[in-house]
Amino acid sequence: MDSCLFCRIANHEVPSDILYEDDSIVAFRDISPQAPVHFLVIPKKHINNIMEIEENDKELLGNMLFSAQKIAKTEGCEEKGARFVLNCKTDGGQTVGHLHLHVLGKRMLYWPPG
Ligand code: 5GP
Ligand code: ZN
Repeated sequence: MDSCLFCRIANHEVPSDILYEDDSIVAFRDISPQAPVHFLVIPKKHINNIMEIEENDKELLGNMLFSAQKIAKTEGCEEKGARFVLNCKTDGGQTVGHLHLHVLGKRMLYWPPG
């Protein structure tokens, strides 16, 4: 999608601080970090949100999660943990309409998030 910000980041048309990239996903630091570690993992292909994933996206989602775990460890979150979040649509607080997994770490987070 030409107009989608995260598609443009995935295509390197919009600069970002990329932590990891492979054939199907990109991970980059959030522009407005809510914790000392805050990065996003996105599929390169456009998917609006988690409600729209399909059977043949299962491997892609597994790659997103496994890569998020690896990067979180690299960022020093293994010992104390981190939060892995998928906001979805209006009630979930999603503001960018391209599936993205948030990873927040290196500070204590509380529940419920509000
Ligand atoms: P959402 O609220 O949709 O779950 O999260 C969208 C996230 O994208 C927010 O945390 C926001 O700070 C981040 N974001 C929005 N625009 C940009 C951008 O241009 N670059 C980067 N790196 N992050 C962005
Ligand atoms: Zn997109």
